Amino acid sequence: MPDTLKDIRLFRQQCLINGQWSDADNKAVLSVSNPATNEKLGVVPDCGAAETRRAIAAAAAAYPAWRARTPLERGNLLRAWERAIRENLDDLARILTLEEGKPLAEARGEILQGASYFPWYAEECRRVCGEVTPAFRPGTQVLTRHEPVGVAAAVTPWNFPFAMIPRKAAPALAAGCTIVIKPASRTPYSALALAELAQRAGIPAGVVNVLTGKASAIGGEIAANPTVRKLSFTGSTEVGKRLAADCAPSLKRLSLELGGNAPFIVFDDADLDLALNLAMANKFRNAGQTCICANRFLIQRGVYEAFAEGLARRIKGLRVGNGLDPDVTMGPLINAKAVARVDGMVRDALAKGAQLIAGGKPHALGGNFYEPTLLTGLRKDMQIFQNEIFGPVAAVMPFASEEEAVALANDTPYGLASYVCTRDLGRSWRMLNALEYGMAGVNDAALAAAETPFGGVKYSGLGREGGREGLLEYMETHLALLGGLV
Ligand code: NAP
Repeated sequence: MPDTLKDIRLFRQQCLINGQWSDADNKAVLSVSNPATNEKLGVVPDCGAAETRRAIAAAAAAYPAWRARTPLERGNLLRAWERAIRENLDDLARILTLEEGKPLAEARGEILQGASYFPWYAEECRRVCGEVTPAFRPGTQVLTRHEPVGVAAAVTPWNFPFAMIPRKAAPALAAGCTIVIKPASRTPYSALALAELAQRAGIPAGVVNVLTGKASAIGGEIAANPTVRKLSFTGSTEVGKRLAADCAPSLKRLSLELGGNAPFIVFDDADLDLALNLAMANKFRNAGQTCICANRFLIQRGVYEAFAEGLARRIKGLRVGNGLDPDVTMGPLINAKAVARVDGMVRDALAKGAQLIAGGKPHALGGNFYEPTLLTGLRKDMQIFQNEIFGPVAAVMPFASEEEAVALANDTPYGLASYVCTRDLGRSWRMLNALEYGMAGVNDAALAAAETPFGGVKYSGLGREGGREGLLEYMETHLALLGGLV
């Protein structure tokens, strides 16, 4: 990997604890491989509870001075971090594609999207104003202020190894918190490159710490340690629930960005070309490995055939391969286990009567590649209807009425993203009110932005990232009562 980078110092194989690049105490390492080739990229430290305690202590030691800086000063450092990212965009995109597999163009998009959280929160933290409440007793004055929660921790997934870090670190640092970050073991290098750039930007030692290693040991220490006042986790619902339980004894504040099962609903009156373009961009980005990917295409009967035909035509235009090839539009899945999982869901659907229109098996390229797949005749008893697919499989199901579409869409314990394509304004509004999801896109499907609150309901999580709300997730509301003022 280092040979192919302009700046080899961005490829870090150590953790950053208190401004020092460190190995695991026992020098143990984890191997990291390229999902497109299964070749080894390098190693990272296999840290555990002891290193995590040290990182938390470093974040606690750095906290008072960081918190004491003005929002403008903190914001200037966030902007410097953003500049360092933009200056190194090519190398960062290469690292991201090599460790995660997504095409280079998508990697660049993810990095620029992630970087956009820094300037947004650099400004937003200057506007966290408190309130003066009218006196409720003579001779008193009440002030409400927003204060940083203290040391924060972030645990992030492999599917967006870069963007998930700024989404958490930018609001945390802007609020005045310091942070300990644990990236996914399969994709640690984007997070370590970000730590290197944080140092170059002048962010003080201990303010940002990045640890790699055993999830249960690092996560266990983060959850149990009372110094950590906030955990922001993005990953599976299963691990999110476990972490929530583990954090209960120390009553930490929690943000949980978990799995989804997004309905993509197309009505007869929709602009079909627009719906198809949105469906393709939404479903096949990152080979279908995104939490807001359309999982169930619910299509009204009048356009069902035309939608399926249009999707099949577009799917044939996808070019599968190594993301470093500029012509490739869809990369591999993350590993062999993911390929087997997705294939199992396709087999389940076919056994229960789905029709295969395109793809449907591991790709001839071998390794972790899977064919972009289209199934029609999706039914409620199929695994694909019930579970997050996390792969390049589009499954289409017909419906007759608006009521039926709502009932099908809400028939899941998940509630992250939902999509509706219609040209009827009244129907758009009725759907927005009826869909039990944290987010809904009408005639648009790109939901994540620094300016907007991203998050889910039900089994899709707690809290929001982005927007004004994302900053308040790292702040406590403090009440100051001044008496004796007569
Ligand atoms: P995952 O297995 O839950 O892992 C996520 C992170 O949690 C990784 O860093 C993992 O570390 C760590 N982890 C695993 N077990 C842990 C434990 N016992 N204690 C503490 N940390 C632990 O999820 P994933 O497969 O990486 O990511 C895919 C999932 O993330 C999907 O369900 C997707 O929908 C969801 N996701 C949600 C959003 C959102 O914003 N809602 C965004 C992206 C992804 P290791 O890598 O070391 O195992």
